[in-house]
Amino acid sequence: MARLRLTHVGGPTLLVEIDGWRILTDPTFDAPGKRYGFGLGTSSTKVAGPAVAAEDLGDIDAVLLTHDHHADNLDDAGRELLARVPIVVTTTAGAVRLGRDALGLEPWEVARLEAAPRPPIDVVATPCRHGPPLSKPLVGDVIGFALRAAAADRVALWISGDTVLYPGVRAVADRFDVDVAVLHLGGVQFPITGPLRYTMTVDDAVSLCRALQPKVAIPVHYEGWSHFAEGRSAIASRLDREPTDVRERFRFLDLGVPTTIDG
Ligand SMILES: [Zn+2]
Repeated sequence: MARLRLTHVGGPTLLVEIDGWRILTDPTFDAPGKRYGFGLGTSSTKVAGPAVAAEDLGDIDAVLLTHDHHADNLDDAGRELLARVPIVVTTTAGAVRLGRDALGLEPWEVARLEAAPRPPIDVVATPCRHGPPLSKPLVGDVIGFALRAAAADRVALWISGDTVLYPGVRAVADRFDVDVAVLHLGGVQFPITGPLRYTMTVDDAVSLCRALQPKVAIPVHYEGWSHFAEGRSAIASRLDREPTDVRERFRFLDLGVPTTIDG
């Protein structure tokens, strides 16, 4: 397993330090208190600020952006940060919208990131469906990211992206051996669309991990906004009912604390 250090900034925002690379996922650094529209009459209020300020992060080699069109994955301060990052990888639609030389990937496409003297890293885009069946035209394109050393067999780190549990996500378990899985949870629902879910619940995470068998599973993106239905305590108490083999794979990161993941 590659040497991996993760710092959870808040929401889906994670600083990934791997093989000399410093990679940031879904940059969100706005102060709390503002309400953001997510389209179709849905909206949410940010209730927690970042645990690390953008200016305290140091140099970032690359940003992996699961989608650019929701403010809980890319906010105003996150957009400003993109300007000083040499490599940005996101969806093909998002790459066009960002209006810079961002790298757009379709699901299962691979990009090799190179920034000598660091060893190259392959990033494989993985499928996401950010809502109920047939919702894609409404909720837009989202991808996850599987990172592995060039030519390695195993995926060192997989970031699920905002997605429900559906065959596209389960296909990741069929294709890859994953060491560390970062799972976007929260079981998102909106009053206007009733019981429909837009991201995975902890039940989904447990089901996925039974198939995926990661060495470590790390929940993110479950708190800090008003639209999350399952926070840390709900996730933890649900995991308490799982057998040790499942429960012990899950690990919460303390916000703002660089954490070495040993597997
Ligand atoms: Zn989203």
